[in-house]
Amino acid sequence: MYLRLSTAALALLGSAICTMADEVNVYSYRQPELIQPLADGFTADTGIAVNIAFVDKGMAERLIAEGKRSPADLVMTVDISRLMELVDAGVTQPVESAVLKENIPANLRASDDEWFGLTSRARIVYASKERVKDGEVTTYEDLADPKWKGRICSRSGTHPYNVALLGAMIAHHGEAEAKTWAEGLKANLARKPAGSDRDQVKAIWAGECDIAIGNTYYMGQMVNDPEQKEWADSVRIVFPVFEGDGTHMNVSGVAMTKAAPNKDAALKFMEWLSEDHAQKIYAETNYEFPVKLGVPRSALVESWGAFTPDSLNLTDVAKERPAALRIMEEVNFDG
Ligand code: FE
Repeated sequence: MYLRLSTAALALLGSAICTMADEVNVYSYRQPELIQPLADGFTADTGIAVNIAFVDKGMAERLIAEGKRSPADLVMTVDISRLMELVDAGVTQPVESAVLKENIPANLRASDDEWFGLTSRARIVYASKERVKDGEVTTYEDLADPKWKGRICSRSGTHPYNVALLGAMIAHHGEAEAKTWAEGLKANLARKPAGSDRDQVKAIWAGECDIAIGNTYYMGQMVNDPEQKEWADSVRIVFPVFEGDGTHMNVSGVAMTKAAPNKDAALKFMEWLSEDHAQKIYAETNYEFPVKLGVPRSALVESWGAFTPDSLNLTDVAKERPAALRIMEEVNFDG
């Protein structure tokens, strides 16, 4: 017999299936290649299955629509603003855990326990080994200097990574100065923003620009890709700072959903993600910085050198997201 189920019935069925013992259901904005080894490691250690639904966009809307019947226990994503968006939408719940508090430094988790950072990353400059001298790039502010005219490549100004960077600029200097900076940066672009962070490094390799803004871990990914290794070899990593402060940081993180049908198992997975085994997987397979003290960065990441992280609180950076987006549009960054 052909059975036709309504969406509501399907959701009910889904939540009935997923509330069976010893399972955790994750909605993830992060890519399957990275999350699956973590899920597999957790299952091997605990016997608890992890079901992952990879979501492209609209996670908050989806969780709101599903309401109490949502099968999701956890959400995983990169970028502080995406975490805050879920918290602000009211689809998460605070988690009380001594393990999470011990493993994750206070500046990398919410003060109200609504989200927890699992890795951090720096947004840095990739500089041409041939055309940029050592010490020529020092601050983010300097990227707006006309001396870089026609020499900078960047992905879209409205990508969350760049919105967060501009948000940090606003938090440091105020909106007016940040807008002047964004105008200056745009005026220095060698081409219209397009593509990924790695595409900007490729453009340096191809001679289209001399410096690019990108996240640290992409260097690790490029070095290990036969085609992209050449791009990586054409640049070095420079850790710019905000004047008088440090290098812009962002996180990837996790939060428990308000509906969480498998709360105990979900908490176990959250805690496991903050422990050594998982933190090493993040460090070695994706070249991110572990948040847990004492877990080493990968040797490759270490080879990029030491730097001072910016002292801004990430929640304060996320608060500037609407202003940063508006400025990116006002200066027509992608135009
Ligand atoms: Fe990324």
